[in-house]
This record gives sequence, C-alpha cells and structure tokens, in this order.
Amino acid sequence: MRLDIVTIFPEYFAPLDISLLGKARRTGLLDVRVHDLRDWTHDRHRTVDDTPYGGGPGMVMKPDPWGEALDALVPRSDNPTPSSGPPSDDSASTDKTPPGGAPPGGGASASETFTGGVSPGGAVSGRGAPPSSGASASEMFTGGVSPGGAVSGRGAPPGGGGSPGDGASAGEMASGRVPRLIIPTPSGRPFTQADAVRYAAEPWLVFACGRYEGIDSRVAEEARTRMPVDEVSLGDFVLAGGEVAVLVMVEAIGRLLPGVLGNADSVTDDSFAPGAMESLLEGPVYTKPPVWRERPVPDILLSGHHGAIARWRRDEALRRTVRHRPELLSRLAPEVLDEHDRAVLREAGFPVDGEDMAD
Ligand code: SAM
Repeated sequence: MRLDIVTIFPEYFAPLDISLLGKARRTGLLDVRVHDLRDWTHDRHRTVDDTPYGGGPGMVMKPDPWGEALDALVPRSDNPTPSSGPPSDDSASTDKTPPGGAPPGGGASASETFTGGVSPGGAVSGRGAPPSSGASASEMFTGGVSPGGAVSGRGAPPGGGGSPGDGASAGEMASGRVPRLIIPTPSGRPFTQADAVRYAAEPWLVFACGRYEGIDSRVAEEARTRMPVDEVSLGDFVLAGGEVAVLVMVEAIGRLLPGVLGNADSVTDDSFAPGAMESLLEGPVYTKPPVWRERPVPDILLSGHHGAIARWRRDEALRRTVRHRPELLSRLAPEVLDEHDRAVLREAGFPVDGEDMAD
C-alpha cells in the first residue's frame, strides 16, 4: 500500500519508522512518502497561508501550493505526465512549473527525497523507483493490494459528501492509478474502525495535513473532480494541525494490512472490529501472574473451556459497552443479540426489548 502525506512538518512523521509500521515499511508492505508542502511554494518565505476572506482571526492555507502538490502526486488526466515534484526556484511566480511541466526523468525533487527526518531511503526501499525515475505514477501503482477488494469493500461513501469514486472510475482506483485523498478536519465525518478497514483495502491514499484555520475549501472541491476525497474528523475536539490525526489514521490502517500484525486474529477481537465486535468495546484483559497484589485473574480464564471463555468475554464486552458507550449498543441490530446477550444487557441496565433497540 502506498501512502503519500503532505505536510508543512515532515518531521512529525518520524514515529512511522518505529514498531510495527516501521517494520512494515522496511519490509515493503507499507510505502510511506512524506512531502513538504512548502516545496510547492515559489516565494522567498515559502508562504503557505494567507488571511481569511470575510475577515476573522487566524490564517487559511493557500490553495496554490496544495493544488500543485496534488498535481505532482496525482497527474491530471488532461496532463497525465507527473511532475518530477515541487519546483525549487525561489521566485515570486506561482505559475513557473505547471503540472507535468518538469521532465519526469529529472533529478529527485525535495518531495521525492522525503524532506524532514523521515528516513527518506526507507520510504522507497523495496518499492521500486520514485516518480522521478522515469516511471509515471500510473505505471508505478498498478500492483499491490487486492485491487478487487479496494473498491468492492468501500461500500457507502465515507467522504464528506462526495460519492466513492467522484472524479475517478472504480477501475482507476482499484488499479492504483488514482488515490483517495483524505483530509483530516474537525468538521469532517467521524473516522471509525470501519473506515480503517475500508482504507486498508485500497492501494493508494494521500493525506493532506491542514494547519491554521484549515485548507482553502476549493482544494477539496477541485480534487473531488478527479479523485475521491474524504474529510474526516478524529473526534469532537480541535488539534493544532492534521499531522497527529494522520499519524493516528495511518496506524489504524497500517496494522490491518496483511502481514503487519504477528497474529492476524487479534484484529477480529478488537473493539469495533467488523463482525461480532462491531459496536462493542473489548472487555478486560489479563496476563500472568494469576494473582497480582491480591487481585486474582477471573477463574474462567484459567479454566481452559474455550466456549465458556468466549461467552465470558462477550458478556464483559457487553457490560463495558453499556458502561462506557451505551449509544453504540443502540446501533446494534436486535437480531445479532441472542437470549443470553439480552439477559446480560438487561442486568447491566440497558433496555433491550423491541423498540428500545435501533431498527
Ligand atoms: N478552524 C477549524 C475548525 O474549527 O474546524 C480548525 C482548524 S485546526 C486548528 C487546524 C487543522 O488541524 C485542521 O485543518 C485539521 O487538519 C487538524 N485538526 C484539528 N482538529 C482535528 C480533528 N478533530 N480531526 C481531524 N483533524 C483535525
């Protein structure tokens, strides 16, 4: 899977070199490319922001660098040769290097060399050459992750209003010729585990990290004419920038890729996992020793009775969900609950009969 991340703080992504995701990058399962948005500016100060139209506090990210960055990463169909990356001139002009204007075989650009501390070499190793090597972007991303699943698994559009393939055909996405653009924003639709699962089946994602008061809205609007665009929120709070949000999403997506986790089964037992755990929180977990500070592990977990243990885990998941997130249970279709589930929920104080559950 290829991930392009555009940011004004490439160094924020150094953690992607460690742990599971670092290993996935080194083994080629995950091809992460971090790009400095300022490489697509043309003025001496490498300006990416300006005052908001209509007045008000704060600054807004200018559309020009974002437009050029996206043009370089995702060649337009009317100009299919990818730019070799951001121009390096320092003039005031904003039109010096049109999309695709630079020769594809030119030297590695700043974006392709992954400015910032994000292990430039590692980003590419094992994944073939960067766009400047002569291969076009569309040539580069035709292989990889189950193209069929990439589209069939998408289901309802997760985007902020756009259809799943807005501006791109299903075939273009499945073959990796066109990525999905993901824009973190508090005004987006909530990011969920179901989105992580859906994104993990796609071959190519591009993340746009906003700062200040966000990105000029025309950037998403224009991008939507040629690729699917999702505006997603990490929650009902406001971060200083999109970098942390992207780190969170990349970790949630990356750990779902086949081969990344040592035990693939562990994701199916997770809170929110599609299937039996959908809309449920995982219950408590324990390890050795059997008694710690006079607190014993529940006997059932030492019993060796797999069926009884599974039942106990589900009961605990139901109880914890009632305590912490009762609104999740309201989303459960009544038919996924057996009699025992209903008894546990009732006992935990959650109404389960008939009209009390979501229909
Ligand atoms: N003025 C914006 C608003 O009220 O919706 C907030 C902008 S915020 C200070 C700057 C950037 O941080 C956003 O463009 C986005 O990239 C990121 N961000 C902040 N909170 C976020 C959240 N809850 N989810 C995802 N991204 C967030």
